[in-house]
Parts: sequence; structure tokens; C-alpha cells
Amino acid sequence: MSKISRSFFPNLTMVIFLILLMFMFIFMLMFLSSKSWAYGHDKWVDHEKWWKSYLIHKIINKNDLTFCVVVKDKRLSKENISIEVNTALKLWIRSIDVFFKNGENNQSTIKISEINCDKKNTNPLDIMSVRMVDLFVEVAAEDIFVDLNGYYLPKVYNNHNYAYIKVNLAMLDNYEGKIYKWNDTFMVLKKDNLSKLDKEKYLWEISVNSPTDVATLAKKNNIEYRELFWTTYKTLIHELGHSIGLCDTKDTLFKDQCDVNFRSSDEQKSSVMKDAKYFYLTEDDLDGIESLVKRFKEKSKERIRVRIEDEGKNSILSTILGPI
Ligand SMILES: [Zn+2]
Repeated sequence: MSKISRSFFPNLTMVIFLILLMFMFIFMLMFLSSKSWAYGHDKWVDHEKWWKSYLIHKIINKNDLTFCVVVKDKRLSKENISIEVNTALKLWIRSIDVFFKNGENNQSTIKISEINCDKKNTNPLDIMSVRMVDLFVEVAAEDIFVDLNGYYLPKVYNNHNYAYIKVNLAMLDNYEGKIYKWNDTFMVLKKDNLSKLDKEKYLWEISVNSPTDVATLAKKNNIEYRELFWTTYKTLIHELGHSIGLCDTKDTLFKDQCDVNFRSSDEQKSSVMKDAKYFYLTEDDLDGIESLVKRFKEKSKERIRVRIEDEGKNSILSTILGPI
């Protein structure tokens, strides 16, 4: 009997110890998998010619940001698109501010203002406007990148770098015999009668106060998923992610667009930058922003100093007008 007890008790302790170890291992795995990064930096974000066109540098270094909007289809309201761009910008800037200031202050200090760049001539960019604008958003039919729903391009005009976003109105989605085309977010949600202020509040609600995805909001408003998917606000949030400096994390696009030194593993979860089904920034999108801020916080300041010196030297050249 005593022999059995001696051999039994040490075994029991060992079993309990092993069970505890197993639980610790499972918890560790759960913790690690919930924190797996899924983001990438756009591979051009540090390019010598283009880096100044990315909003990450402007937001970190400037106190104000200007944008302009051109809408070339009467089905979509210019005022609504402006509200969407403004809110989407605030959404990203808010997250940048949190990491930039190490969470000290949640309030954005950068001033966002809209300027006019729709001159209704062959070149929609007024020379004065383009020299001031940081973000130019065009909602119109695309004739070059016809297969894209929308895109971002870093641009330089007359020595001025700016971000350019296009929503391609020519893109149609033919799904099960029904055609879905781009639409105005507020029209689709039947909220176009709201005041401008209430529209802003509404977008802030679905993006910040009660973060909502496309499927949930479609169900809540009793509309088809695809109808809400083909609206501008959630697409603008995605394209703004590009203009700030993040790349697409979807499948092959991830390998083509992302900087090999600044991206996470190939296992990418659903996020704004992967499939654009959200009105809010997911944890992975925020991880991308955090890493962008860490990468450029100091570097950007040094470069801005260099840029100011360069501009002084080239002040005469910069008055010569050139093509976009
Ligand atoms: Zn994209």
C-alpha cells in the first residue's frame, strides 16, 4: 500500500503540473495569434520622388491639411462626398495622433480644410489650388486603370507633391444578373435629408462611437449588401489608407505593393486595407499606422528641414509651370 502511495502521489503532481503547463501554452498561443500583425507599408512611401505625396509625412509635419473634391456624375452629391472625405481623413488622423503623441492626447490638432479645384476646364486643377492641395479626390469614370474600383497615386505638379484618389465610376458589378454601380452613401441609406452636421455625426457614429461593418449596416437598414458595398464612404476610407502609406494586404496585391522590410506575415486577416468592408479601422489597420508613425516620426522631421532649404534654393524654378 505504502509502495503504491509513494508512486501514485508524485505522478499526480506531475499530471497537474503538465495540465497547468498545457493551459499556459494554449493561453500563450491564443495571445500570440490575437496579436498577429497584418499590415504592410506601401513600397513607394519612402521613394525619393514620391514620399512627400504621402499623407503620413504631411500629417506628422504640418499643422493643416487641404483637400479638394471633384464629382463628375450628378447621381452622387458633391457635398456628401466632401463630408465623407473630411470624416475619413479625421478617422485616420485620429489614429496617427494617438501613436504620434504616445496616446497623451486623443484630440486632433491638425486643421483640415476643403478648397476648390473644380474649374470645369480641360485641366480640372486650378494652378493656385494644386499648389496648395494635399489631397485631391476625383469621383469620375476612369479611362486608364479601367479594372480598378478606385486607386491612389502619389503625384507631383510644379514641384508640389500631393495625394490623388480616384473612385472609378465606370466600374460596374454584374452579380447574378443584377448590375450594381457606384452610389452616394447617404442616398442608399436614405439619409440624404439630414443636415450637413447630422451627416457628419452619422459617419462618426458608424466609424468611431459604434464601429460598424458593411454587412451589419446593410442588415440594419434593410438594404442589400452589394448596394451598400458600392458606396463611396467605405471605399474612401480604404483609399485614404493608401494615401497615408499603407498597401493592399489582399493576396497577390500584398506581395506586389508592400515594402518587403515593412510588412507582416503573409497571413492577412480581413481589414480596411484587405477587403474594405468596414466603416472603422480594424486592429490590423491600426497596427499599420503605429508602425508607419514609428518609422517616420523622426526621419520625416529631418527631411522636412532639408526640403525647406531646397525650396529656398529653387524658388525661381518653382514659378515655371509644367504639366501634371
Ligand atoms: Zn487598395
